[in-house]
Amino acid sequence: MHPHLKYLIELQAVDFRLIEIRERISKFPKQLAEVEARVTAAKQLITAAKDALLTSQKERKTYEMDVEQWKERAKKYRNQSGEVKTNEAYKALLHEIQNAEDEAAKAEDRLLERMVSGEEYDRQLKAAEAAVKQVEAEANKERHAIQAEYNTAQKELAAAEAARAASAAAVPEDLVDHYERIAKRHGGIGLAEIRGEGCGQCGVHIRPHMIQLLQRDGNEEFYHCETCTRILYYPDHSAAPGPAAPSPAPSTTDSSAAPAREH
Ligand SMILES: [Zn+2]
Repeated sequence: MHPHLKYLIELQAVDFRLIEIRERISKFPKQLAEVEARVTAAKQLITAAKDALLTSQKERKTYEMDVEQWKERAKKYRNQSGEVKTNEAYKALLHEIQNAEDEAAKAEDRLLERMVSGEEYDRQLKAAEAAVKQVEAEANKERHAIQAEYNTAQKELAAAEAARAASAAAVPEDLVDHYERIAKRHGGIGLAEIRGEGCGQCGVHIRPHMIQLLQRDGNEEFYHCETCTRILYYPDHSAAPGPAAPSPAPSTTDSSAAPAREH
């Protein structure tokens, strides 16, 4: 193995960790927005219930006035009955009284309906207010939990960034640049271990001869995957397992690694 490769492998392990932490941090705004959306939705139910209640109260006032007016009119006609001279006029007046009483009864029915539905809207409003209290309490817990996770992730990020600086310091600068150029093009992953007979990152087949070269003691060459261009290494299975790398994408193409003499 190239003498600098083991430091690059350490650097890659820290970078995997950084990718994971940054991924987690990037999800916090969405998590918070979901909590706020639930609170907003619950509050909208209060607004809707208040609007319905207000409309119902306005209608109730209108119907109360209707009842009053029709009753007034019926009373007025009844008071006129003593002054009527002809039978015809008396019949007409009775008809008017009946009509006004019918209208008053209808208005009373409408009023009663409104009073019943008003109670229902009142119940809905109280239920919506209770629901908001519950949603707010849950949202507060979630906000605190998200904030705590965020603070932890920020600490982990700072620690991983410090660890990265330490790992990078152990690798020659031009090699770090080379690794970072490859990593930048490939989702932050510049190295690929050999897995089975393939590239551990893109999955392409690597020729057995190349794998032998990578395994050879005293090898001082860097070899790159011909397909994804990542720096290849043969994992040291005697060492403790490092952080898990993302699974390679399945590939049906066949290729082999090419030696590179940049370092
Ligand atoms: Zn590859």
